Amino acid sequence: MTPAAALTNDLSRLGAAATAFLGARHRLLIGADWVDAADGGERAVLDPTSGTAIATVAEGGAADIDRAVRAARLAFDEGPWPRLRPNERERMILRLAELVEINGRELAEIESVNTGRALANTRAFDVDLSVDYLRYMAGWATKIHGQTLTPSAPYVPDRRFLAFTMREPAGVVGAITPWNVPLGQAVWKIAPVLATGCTMVLKPAEQTPLTALRFAELAAQVGLPPGVLNVVTGAGSTAGAALVEHPGVDKIAFTGSTEVGRSIGAVCGRLMKRCTLELGGKSPVVVLDDADLQQAIPGAAWAVFGNHGENCLAGSRLLVHRRVFDEVVQGVAEIAQGIRLGAPFGGDADMGPLISREQQRRVLGYIDSGRKAGGRLCAGGTAPEHSGFYVRPTVFADVARDAAVAREEIFGPVVVAWPFDDDEEAVRLANASEYGLGASVWTRDLQRAHRFIGRLDAGTVWVNAHSVLDVAVPFGGFKSSGLGRELGEEAIRHHTRLKSAYIPL
Ligand code: NAP
Ligand code: MG
Repeated sequence: MTPAAALTNDLSRLGAAATAFLGARHRLLIGADWVDAADGGERAVLDPTSGTAIATVAEGGAADIDRAVRAARLAFDEGPWPRLRPNERERMILRLAELVEINGRELAEIESVNTGRALANTRAFDVDLSVDYLRYMAGWATKIHGQTLTPSAPYVPDRRFLAFTMREPAGVVGAITPWNVPLGQAVWKIAPVLATGCTMVLKPAEQTPLTALRFAELAAQVGLPPGVLNVVTGAGSTAGAALVEHPGVDKIAFTGSTEVGRSIGAVCGRLMKRCTLELGGKSPVVVLDDADLQQAIPGAAWAVFGNHGENCLAGSRLLVHRRVFDEVVQGVAEIAQGIRLGAPFGGDADMGPLISREQQRRVLGYIDSGRKAGGRLCAGGTAPEHSGFYVRPTVFADVARDAAVAREEIFGPVVVAWPFDDDEEAVRLANASEYGLGASVWTRDLQRAHRFIGRLDAGTVWVNAHSVLDVAVPFGGFKSSGLGRELGEEAIRHHTRLKSAYIPL
């Protein structure tokens, strides 16, 4: 058993910069100013390893969103940012990337304390990947282009035209992000806004507002013009909803649950507002009978337990050929049992707590329902007696396929496993989901892998890997996993509007 002390963060292990940041009271960034919420509201931010408060932030509401959108509107309609030469925007984004890199240790520490995730994890996915994406998007600033076309226009036989298309910035972007990879998710929203000359208001998740605020300080430090990036911390039902409804916002970029995404999409439809929605998943991991199990077993375990299962791409449905089913499930269960729970600043640990008491209860509720649905528990299923929001990594076999634990996104370290008898059945089971975010197939046969890639209903398919992401490769979901794509050139497309022009020759 893990000693109880290691389950709570020892905050004296933090560096001086992170300690100073956590000690301060944090306000909203609106235009050039750091301001209190209009109604003076505040919120405590918690350390999920103990449930104790680590910082205080302003709790913005509709009035603050209105001020922030006006600042973003002014910066877009009259400010320098959309009018800068592309190479000037490029240089500014590169300077920002460098400053994030220089302050990477502090950002990773703040993120680890706030989310309970290991320092190596926050360093990789919140800091290093963000630096990479800022640099990648800085490059795009000078490469946004349209096409030249030669219209026939047969009904004006005596005139000839040249036509061309151009991509203009989409305008003011309202961005709403979740708590699982807070800075990473924020930068996925911010980088294309900056590259295209848009301006924005960011509403981070209520549980994890800290790194977005620190990032905004760094952006001001490199001279990003006021109003280009505004940050309003607050709740989704108030600040978030006000941002989606605001007539001054041209486009919404949302990542979070499918339920909230659906309601945001409905509002955007009514207001004829562009939106991109990165939503939930219940991604299958398909292990074929010819797979290299030395690779597939740890791969399947990492697919679901990576980032504590708080990963939209989590491989939470494990489908295994019947011939190797017992071996794979037992192997994944052994890995689950060997995972040491613990705080990121508490000693040697493999997995931290979930983000909140609410999320812990939600995940334990799913586990309970899985037991009741006849699931065979092969590992985990419980939480340690401790004030932190931990849940032991959990493996179920033979759960009824229509049970909630088998169909719904849990966003925790819980996997359900079923056997299949042939490739047809594997494809059918993999695709029998409301979601279509990711899928992986594990095989030694390249032709078989290609057939699965073609037939799996998922926005991203991996062969002998899971959850690999790169800033140059578009990412997004099919079916109820969302609309639109982030990363890659697709992100430029979603942050620009296409104009066509004709001029006579
Ligand atoms: P969520 O409610 O969808 O939160 C995502 C973001 O949307 C947060 O910033 C949230 O604010 C905001 N929001 C909530 N209601 C809103 C509304 N009516 N209008 C505008 N914005 C709104 O997700 P959650 O409550 O944090 O987590 C619940 C479950 O969602 C998880 O257990 C998981 O299954 C799923 N989830 C999925 C992803 C993903 O990437 N696929 C990410 C996060 C969560 P608050 O911070 O105030 O909630
Ligand atoms: Mg929420």
